[in-house]
Amino acid sequence: MLYDNLSVNDRGHLEVAGLDTVDLAAEYGTPLYLLDEDRVRAHCRTYVEAMRKYFPEGSVPLYAGKALCFKGIYPVVDSEGLSADVVSPGEIYTALAAGFPAGKLYFHGTNKTDEDIAYGLRSRVGFFIVDNPNELRALNAEAGRQGVHQKILLRVTVGLDPHTLEAINTGRVDSQFGVPIETGQAARFVEEAMAQENLELFGFHSHIGSQIFESDSFCDQADILIRFAKEMKEKLDYTARIFNIGGGFGVRYVESDPEVDIAGNIREISDHLRKGCAQAGIPMPVILMEPGRSIVADAGVTLYTTGGIKTVEGYRDYVTVDGGMTDNPRYALYKSAYTVLNASHADQAADFTCTIAGRCCESGDRIAEEIQIAKPRRGDIIAVLTTGAYNYAMSMNYNRVPRPALVMLHEGTARLAVRRQTFEDLVACEL
Ligand SMILES: *Cc1c(COP(=O)(O)O)cnc(C)c1O
Repeated sequence: MLYDNLSVNDRGHLEVAGLDTVDLAAEYGTPLYLLDEDRVRAHCRTYVEAMRKYFPEGSVPLYAGKALCFKGIYPVVDSEGLSADVVSPGEIYTALAAGFPAGKLYFHGTNKTDEDIAYGLRSRVGFFIVDNPNELRALNAEAGRQGVHQKILLRVTVGLDPHTLEAINTGRVDSQFGVPIETGQAARFVEEAMAQENLELFGFHSHIGSQIFESDSFCDQADILIRFAKEMKEKLDYTARIFNIGGGFGVRYVESDPEVDIAGNIREISDHLRKGCAQAGIPMPVILMEPGRSIVADAGVTLYTTGGIKTVEGYRDYVTVDGGMTDNPRYALYKSAYTVLNASHADQAADFTCTIAGRCCESGDRIAEEIQIAKPRRGDIIAVLTTGAYNYAMSMNYNRVPRPALVMLHEGTARLAVRRQTFEDLVACEL
């Protein structure tokens, strides 16, 4: 089994966090998202404890809500001591509706509109992470109008390619996110930020990408940030108090993916930063990290009911499911690999080669191709692992498929946290 919260019971059914997935599918219907809250909490603790231990006081993980944003996640990450990053007014609204403290929100976004800026300021978010000079000026003006003194970080790009998927790699020079250091623009960005009377600059943010398995990309990023901070100190007499080094630690989607030692990596990044800062003669800043995927991805499992096997003679066998790209667009977007199991017969040999196809009128609607599962019969429950991140968050109503329900599993009990959309929900905005 890919994770230690998965097991097979004496009925041959897959269990997640000790609960029978076939029973959960019967009770709540399919497609169904499961989220093992205890596993989310364990990941939160790993980050909080390692960051407290190895980084300066005040260093904290920010949960990257874009990975999985719904009201039920915020009390969990809040009670574990995380702050949160939000990328839109909708995410701010969700976090606040769940009672998350506004002061612990860090507001991202590459094109914040004037309305977004006004909303963020009115909501009293702790920090704006300012993406570009246009936003900087608009934010300063609106902060003045609202009589607010706003704390900010500046998003800079370090020009690194951490060898991950092109579509989820955001730290290179040619990027629509942030302002590049290499071209000299980031230095001018800092100078302009220091001159804004309603804004207080605390430091820099950089996010290099996703599905990163080792600390070396973060260490390369740290080197560039330290060099930049040193330059800002010398040229502008500006001392950065915070480095936000972004998110991006990888998770295991399939057996061949390595397991990331989060605490070990944090220790390596810390050693590297401390040495670098000492050499550069700058104080070690408070460190923020923004884990999303590595907090929620492997706590999530999606359950489907299969419509059975459809054989195209001479080609392949399709196993059809009652969801697909509408609840998990990642295969259609990135050809992401997934581990799939026949949850109804998890005790049987996974020796049937097939392609998992969704229900949409779209040939790209697949979840996995040429994988092996125990041969299913119509009505069996199919489980797709590692769907906690960027699945519900990216779900859609294409073909008017209602979004699935989400059930949280905590200390041996299941709780409906997001109800299944109804057909009335589908037409609710339509006049
Ligand atoms: C996507 C993103 C994250 C989260 O990345 P994960 O790979 O989910 O950890 C954090 N910060 C920023 C700025 C992002 O764009």
